[in-house]
Amino acid sequence: MAGLCGTDYGIWSGERPVGYPLVLGHEFVGHVMAVGAGVSRARVGDRVAIEPNYSCGACPLCREGNRNLCLSRTAVGIDVDGCFAEVARVPERCCWPAPAGVADEDLLMTEPLAVVVRAVARAAVAPGESAAVVGGGTLGLLALQVLRGRGARVLVVSRSSRRFDLARELGAAATHEVAEGPLADVGGAFSGREGVDVVIETAGTADAVSHALALVRPGGRVVLTGLPHDPTAVRFFSVVRREVTITGSMVYQDEFPEAMQLVASGTVRTRPLVTHRFELDAIDAAFAAHRLPESIKVAVLTA
Ligand SMILES: [Zn+2]
Ligand SMILES: [Zn+2]
Repeated sequence: MAGLCGTDYGIWSGERPVGYPLVLGHEFVGHVMAVGAGVSRARVGDRVAIEPNYSCGACPLCREGNRNLCLSRTAVGIDVDGCFAEVARVPERCCWPAPAGVADEDLLMTEPLAVVVRAVARAAVAPGESAAVVGGGTLGLLALQVLRGRGARVLVVSRSSRRFDLARELGAAATHEVAEGPLADVGGAFSGREGVDVVIETAGTADAVSHALALVRPGGRVVLTGLPHDPTAVRFFSVVRREVTITGSMVYQDEFPEAMQLVASGTVRTRPLVTHRFELDAIDAAFAAHRLPESIKVAVLTA
């Protein structure tokens, strides 16, 4: 079973060109059908979630333990054929054993969940802290739950109130719809002090970065997971003056087991985010569904 995301859509539409032809898709869970010589980590019949980025393993970044930052990283479904197919081929180190008793559909979002598990870990959230999530998409709704799991009170801030009912159902203490212009003192009102302790930015727009900085308190932490491609206007005066820590967080390294454990334990609920399901033969309809306003995660049943 595979999940379809904005990256896939961008490649499919041509917005993000790659070396076509290419089998798209990078979010998936499946059974091992065959293994190559010398493979010991995965066995035929194992159910695995796939980490769809693999590094070269030889460069200084890889050797010092920063394999998510490897400049020779290979992305499944972007650089090489991916999972919108009956079978996919991946290196054994990409295979993480799935916990028994958890449905494929619940593990479908292990890849985006691993992204936010890393982001929240980089924020070093402590129980009782106040947190804001900027963005109400898949990553935002997952980050909200990971933060809750760490004992934080969470405010969800988004340009649209569409997902606010779901955000509350998943544990948000409050929600706020961002209007045009600067963000008022929403972080202060929510935290009861100068702003929230932690902000996880998931929207990937220039505005979202500004919103994150408006929400955080002096001495607070902001973790950026979105990839704003446009230039971002940041008042660095306020970063220095308020001693805000801004941290980038790039995909994941070893977060897959923790991500799946959060689902197995019920701390994170992924199924309410699966809004559409299609057979592989109807992949065109799956891409179309991704663009619907009510769509969060589109699942593709590949086998
Ligand atoms: Zn994705
Ligand atoms: Zn490397």
